[in-house]
Amino acid sequence: MLKKPVIGLVPMVNPEKSRCEMPWSYCNALEGAGALPMILPLLTDPDSLRQIVSLCSGILLTGGPDVDPARYGEQTLPACGTIIPQRDEMEALLFRAALEADKPVLGICRGIQAMNVALGGTLWQDLPTQVEGSLNHTQPAPYDKTWHKVSVTPGTPLADLLGVEELEVTSRHHQAVKEVAPRLKAMAFAPDGVLEAVWMPGRRFVWGVQWHPESVYQTSEASRKLFAAFVEQCR
Ligand code: MN
Repeated sequence: MLKKPVIGLVPMVNPEKSRCEMPWSYCNALEGAGALPMILPLLTDPDSLRQIVSLCSGILLTGGPDVDPARYGEQTLPACGTIIPQRDEMEALLFRAALEADKPVLGICRGIQAMNVALGGTLWQDLPTQVEGSLNHTQPAPYDKTWHKVSVTPGTPLADLLGVEELEVTSRHHQAVKEVAPRLKAMAFAPDGVLEAVWMPGRRFVWGVQWHPESVYQTSEASRKLFAAFVEQCR
């Protein structure tokens, strides 16, 4: 029986080698949750991306480098990292196509940032230099260990799913959501006030998390519940 929901993953892009790549952890977590992961090609043609969305039951926006600050109307600061314009473009179009088709979307790390920017929100370009007193959000290896807590906002879908007020998460980002896009709502914060999770009301499942649930899929029940909830909505 062919009935696993197909979930398209935005590829990591290596411009120096003209190559797309994918950490195994994303695919392993999706497969573990009962989905069929499909790594997408780097495309920026809107019609092609709409067709991809029509072939997928859900979309996973993966981690990666920094979104071009020009996309949220800011000058690029010296501490902003590498920018890959083709990926920015692909992700913005793919996310919009997924919303048009009402397909579930999970954004992870860069994914929550790309979602927020695509919907008119802004980002901190570099937490260490822009947010005084911010935690170190760039954990050292090993990455399959959690690094800081987040408080889960009561009454949000994340709180309903996990049934907890606090959660230990991984942290491998120097950017974060600054102003939340009008259509998104916050659902978790780090102890320093940095926003770590959002959702879109009125949708089956449009969630973004700043941490990496796929990195602790084996050891974190909360991560398994998160992937299970996403995949369930893709069925
Ligand atoms: Mn963090």
